Amino acid sequence: MVEGVNRGDDVSITVFLGAPGSGKGTQAKRLALNHGFKHLSTGDILRGAIQAGTTLGLRAKEFVENGDLVPDALMIELIASSLSGFPSSAKVILDGFPRTKPQAVALDNDESTMVRRAVYFKVPEEVLILRLTGRRICEKCSEPYHIKFIRPKNEGVCDKCAGKLIQRADDVENVVVRRLELFNELNKQLLNYYQDRNRLVEIDGFLPVEELQAELIRMLK
Ligand code: AMP
Repeated sequence: MVEGVNRGDDVSITVFLGAPGSGKGTQAKRLALNHGFKHLSTGDILRGAIQAGTTLGLRAKEFVENGDLVPDALMIELIASSLSGFPSSAKVILDGFPRTKPQAVALDNDESTMVRRAVYFKVPEEVLILRLTGRRICEKCSEPYHIKFIRPKNEGVCDKCAGKLIQRADDVENVVVRRLELFNELNKQLLNYYQDRNRLVEIDGFLPVEELQAELIRMLK
C-alpha cells in the first residue's frame, strides 16, 4: 500500500472514529441511504451473527455483551472477508473498525483497499452516557432511537420496519462505563496513527444530525 495515493483500483475507505454513542452509525447510515456510500458496521455484523447463532456469533457473544473488544485476529479476518465482497469502485464507510492500532495496520496492509481518511467524531463524555443509556434500536433493521431525543411514532415499534425496539445488552450503564473506559484507552493510539499519516480530520459530533450530515457531505466529496 502506498500511503496517501489511491491507485485507482482500490476500494476507497473512510474510517469513522469516535466513542460509542458519538453518532458515527447514524451518520454513516444516512450517507449510505442518500449518497452512494457503502456502510460497514462491525458492531451490526457481530450482533447479527450473535442473533443468528453462527460460529462467528458464538465466538464473539461474550465479548460483545460484556463490553469487551473481540480479539484482533477475529476482527481482522471478519473485515477482510467483508471488504472482499465490494467492487473496486466502492466508497466504503467503516463504522467501528479499526478500534486498535493492530487493526489499523492490518487495514493498511490490505492490498485491495485504500484508507483515504479517518474522521473523528468528538463528543463530551456526559453526552455519550446520556445518549447510550437511553438508546433503543430496532431488533430487525438496527435503526437507532432514544427514549427522550428520538422517539418512534408508536411506543416500542420501529417507524421504518415495524420491528421491536430493544435496549442493547451493552447499553446498560455499567457496561457503557466500561466501553467508554476502553475507548479512551485505545482511541489516542488510533488518532496518533492517522494524524502521523496526515489522514485525520476532526468533526464536532455534538452538532445536530442534519448539520453534521451536511458537513460530512462537504468533507467527503
Ligand atoms: P459497536 O456497535 O461499534 O459499539 O460495537 C459493539 C461491540 O462489538 C463492541 O463493544 C465490541 O465488543 C464489538 N466490536 C465491534 N467492532 C469491533 C472491533 N473493531 N474490534 C473489537 N471488537 C469490536
